[in-house]
Amino acid sequence: MADNVVIIGSGPAAHTAAIYTARADLKPVLFEGFMAGGIAAGGQLTTTTDVENFPGFPEGIGGPELTERFRAQSARFGTVIHPETVTRVDLSRRPFRYATDEREGEANTLIIATGATAKRDDVPGTRDHELWQKGVSACAVCDGALPVFRNKPLFVIGGGDSAMEEASFLTKFGSKVYIVHRRDELRASKIMQQRAKDNPKIEILYSHQVVQVSGGQGVEVVRVKDLKSGAERDVPAAGLFFAIGHKPNTDFLGGQLALDDQGYIVTTPGTTQTSVPGVFAAGDVQDKKWRQAITAAGSGCMAALEAEHFLSSH
Ligand code: FAD
Ligand code: NDP
Repeated sequence: MADNVVIIGSGPAAHTAAIYTARADLKPVLFEGFMAGGIAAGGQLTTTTDVENFPGFPEGIGGPELTERFRAQSARFGTVIHPETVTRVDLSRRPFRYATDEREGEANTLIIATGATAKRDDVPGTRDHELWQKGVSACAVCDGALPVFRNKPLFVIGGGDSAMEEASFLTKFGSKVYIVHRRDELRASKIMQQRAKDNPKIEILYSHQVVQVSGGQGVEVVRVKDLKSGAERDVPAAGLFFAIGHKPNTDFLGGQLALDDQGYIVTTPGTTQTSVPGVFAAGDVQDKKWRQAITAAGSGCMAALEAEHFLSSH
């Protein structure tokens, strides 16, 4: 028999959807993934240290601990959680069909909350066992306010809107922010470019590449290379932020839902409805703008309420 609600994902969006649908007695089944998108079950927050902007934790809380709490709350209300990655779905008719490596099943509604993965470049010194999360980050809004970055030079890699926005944000904390972009022309919108160019604390290094990051307990030196002349130089800095885009985890959908040109699920504005009735999308998999735990959780709540409404009206 088909399940009422199957939730795919394991971040704040998925577990909020699970808490709401479980409390509505819809007996949700949640597939949390096994290193799906290269990230452990629990999603992006498992890759960070302190989360200081999620309400309810005035002292801050570790990312892994927060995700563990989300999961415990889902389980408490009876969500069935499978540690498996959904590899295929068939959305051509209802009930929808899905498969993992271990099972197949049917669902009357689907909530897709598979998130997105921040892209990182493989720069020596920035890898997981090196300075990743010790001054190297992929989220300025999340980590920029940490004391280690105060009044120190910082680097942002990227030439898009995210890089401009993150660099502007970081000028509140750092003494100077270098934007390193691989071409001699930015990709960002004109207004965002102008904002960055007008900021006296920002210096844009065009046609440059970061080739090495080094330090002891944190970032101390960033080596940049001028791609035109080939010259390299060391710049003292306390932080480096990747802003080179995100990849939404939507490959497993096989093109059955409308996606935008970057692969994000398209939802009807103000809702979590996708191009297929009965399939809802929440969190970063459908949001390339806000990308925060609290906004993901909010849209997970919306998806749950919309799924409940859909089931009662069909
Ligand atoms: P995600 O957290 O992206 O999780 C989705 C998860 O679903 C995947 O990671 C994977 O485990 C699973 N999955 C994927 N595909 C499948 C599949 N096919 N089958 C089954 N499971 C699957 N936000 C804040 O508000 N505050 C912060 O301090 C903060 N710090 C951050 C630090 C870092 C380093 C990063 C990268 C992000 C940070 N964010 C922070 C952003 C926040 O983590 C995300 O906005 C939020 O986690 C998005 O939640 P989500 O529910 O959409 O999914
Ligand atoms: P984008 O894909 O727009 O930009 C990514 C940038 O990173 C590009 O400049 C790209 O260079 C560079 N890049 C990619 N890979 C590498 C790499 N391996 N090494 C070095 N540089 C690399 O992503 P964004 O996250 O900036 O934006 C995503 C979407 O979100 C866009 O539609 C954007 O408009 C939107 N957005 C809007 C905001 C706003 O309006 N306030 C804020 C943030 C995002 P190149 O240009 O050479 O390809």
